[in-house]
This record gives sequence, C-alpha cells and structure tokens, in this order.
Amino acid sequence: MFNIAIDGFVGSGKSTLSTEIAKRLNLKALDTGAIYRGIACYYLKLNLPNPNDEIINKFVSNLNVEIKFVENIQNVIVNGENFTNMLRDENTSMMASLISPYKMIRNKVRLLQQKFASENDCIIEGRDIGTDVLPNAQVKLFLTGNATIRAKRRFLQIKDKPNSPTYEEILEDLNLRDYRDTHREVAPLKPAKDAIIIDSTNMNLEEMINYCVDIIKSKMGKTK
Ligand code: C5P
Repeated sequence: MFNIAIDGFVGSGKSTLSTEIAKRLNLKALDTGAIYRGIACYYLKLNLPNPNDEIINKFVSNLNVEIKFVENIQNVIVNGENFTNMLRDENTSMMASLISPYKMIRNKVRLLQQKFASENDCIIEGRDIGTDVLPNAQVKLFLTGNATIRAKRRFLQIKDKPNSPTYEEILEDLNLRDYRDTHREVAPLKPAKDAIIIDSTNMNLEEMINYCVDIIKSKMGKTK
C-alpha cells in the first residue's frame, strides 16, 4: 500500500490539506485527531474525573473504537455511540489533548491507524504518524507555521458561530495543546528524520496542495 503521513501543529492545515490531496490523488484520508476526539467525547460522557494512570487503565480496558465512512464523512463510534457531531466542540479539544499522552490510549489508536494503512492507499494525518505509527510511510510531511497566524486563521473560520472563543483564547488553547503534544513522553510531536518540513505561514491552501501533490506524485512515480 502507498502511505502518506502528515504530522504537524494545531491549526497548521493538516486536515484540509489531507482531504484535498486525497481527492486529487484518489486516496483515502484518515483524520487521527478525530479518533482521539471521539474517545475524549466518550470520556466526557462518562463524567470521569481528570485523567490519571489508574482511571485511564480502567477506561481503556472497556473501550471499543470504530471508524466508519458515511457518505465520505469519517464517523467515530465509541462503545456503540456515534460522536461525530461533537468532535469539534471546545471541551472535546481540551479533553483530547489531556487523554492523548497516555500510552494505553495511544496503543489502542495506533492499532486502528495501522490497520487502516495496511488496507488502503491513504494519507493519514496526526502528530506521530511519521515517527511512530507508520515509520515506513513512503512520504512524510511535517507542517509547521507561526502560532499567531494559525490562531488568526482559526478565529476567522469560527468567529461568527454562537459562543465562539476570542482570538486570545484560541491562541492560548493552541499554544497549550502544542506544548502538551511536543512535551509528552510517549510519541511526542516532532518531525521524522526523513520528513519534508512545510511552513504554512506564508503559503495559501492552493499553494500548499500543489506543492505537496508534486512531492507525492514524484515519490509515487518512483515506487509504483
Ligand atoms: O488534530 P486535532 O486537533 O483534531 O487532534 C486533537 C488532539 O488529539 C490533539 O490536541 C492531540 O493532543 C491529539 N492527537 C495526538 N496524536 C494524533 C492526533 C491527535 O496526540 N496522531
């Protein structure tokens, strides 16, 4: 199978970029943040206290996570409940960031991701795909970008929605989540040694897509 790994910081454009590349190159796309988010929704639903090793071990021992594509939309089902509509809620984002450092959670999600990659020519985006989940992916891209620009883009996307956070709140949340992702012990966010680093600060989406598609096509030509 041909596997592409895209990792990067919060709001660096991974999701949109992966979806567009998948469309143009006829690949399946997997958003792994959505899997952590689905698990976070279930954690919140159970109303458990803040996570620690003991709580997480119990939680994971009875955790069943499924991914289903319904009309091309990735649905996340946890213990039979479909959480797709709640994945982007602000409290889901924070809880996903709190539970994702735990090894038991990451192991569970890693298996799902590796199964998907072994069955599909695909593009998988997340934080540890090139380093930990798919160390043999044929293409590895790592997206970065100035934090204030990333926060501004996010603010413009959601500012007209009811109860949307302020720009300052978005920036604070983004910095906190990036800090947790880069500083955790298990599979921290960092570029793989063979990743191509792409700085999205001064590139618009179309430029990023074209740039990445060219890289991927040239690698596909060599391996297919
Ligand atoms: O990418 P997204 O913001 O949807 O991810 C939600 C959270 O899940 C992130 O803040 C990150 O902590 C975690 N995550 C992760 N590893 C991945 C994808 C997401 O730890 N591969």
